[in-house]
Amino acid sequence: MGKENIFLEVKCCNKLVPLVLFRGEMMMKVTRFQSLYQLTVLPRMFPVNCYIYEEEDQLTLIDAGLPNSYKGIVKLIKECKKPLTNIVLTHGHGDHVGALERLKKSFPNAVVSISVRDNRLLRGDTSLDKDEPKTQIKGGIPKGLKVVPDLLLKEGDRVGSLEVYETPGHTPGSISLFDTKNHGIIAGDTFQTRGRIAVSGQIVRSFPFPAFATWNKEIALKSAREIEALKPSLLAIGHGNVIEKPTEKIQKAILEAEENMNMNRVK
Ligand SMILES: [Zn+2]
Repeated sequence: MGKENIFLEVKCCNKLVPLVLFRGEMMMKVTRFQSLYQLTVLPRMFPVNCYIYEEEDQLTLIDAGLPNSYKGIVKLIKECKKPLTNIVLTHGHGDHVGALERLKKSFPNAVVSISVRDNRLLRGDTSLDKDEPKTQIKGGIPKGLKVVPDLLLKEGDRVGSLEVYETPGHTPGSISLFDTKNHGIIAGDTFQTRGRIAVSGQIVRSFPFPAFATWNKEIALKSAREIEALKPSLLAIGHGNVIEKPTEKIQKAILEAEENMNMNRVK
């Protein structure tokens, strides 16, 4: 892979701060968990994950990473020797759609989907609905993306074995995908596990970027509780390692978020 700079923008104190993250050969780390492959670029510095879920006769890509995730994704698809039929985006942030345009060109039959709500983010629209809290939508939003989703998702929809759960907070239309076969959950940026596990919006000093990019902490905490209630066998998120048997860790992260937000109720 060529030498390229990777740029990301984070919104901090209402300013867009460009980050030059990387210059040099891009490496991709692939880790397998039953039917789920985690593909990570910049695993040491600024890990950005996407996932391939392998069904009997097809593959689903969940998120499209950074532009330089492209080659690693294509290589794994070829190794699996199955068609890529779906590309599902957990939310509309730039570090989850980076390779989307090239992938859609290479796999034109793959159905691209995102939630109804975050499709607006994907189009660069950061306006809020009347009934949404007036906290600002943050994070890098794609500019002039040429790919138009083929399918807009809502709670309960299925993409193969993956069931859609609406888990807003990080963005208004963030979704998670529950693996109905193995009971793992691919949860976008509803949590981060880089540094340590944290609910979206809670700052982890060694890796604060997902928190900087979070729209609404209260709603993110509510979604974290919904994920906890599913008792997933595995938690796969956008930034950080997969956690197997994650319930205790999820509970700890929820408790910490509650304490931080002074939301502990006296029992
Ligand atoms: Zn994000």
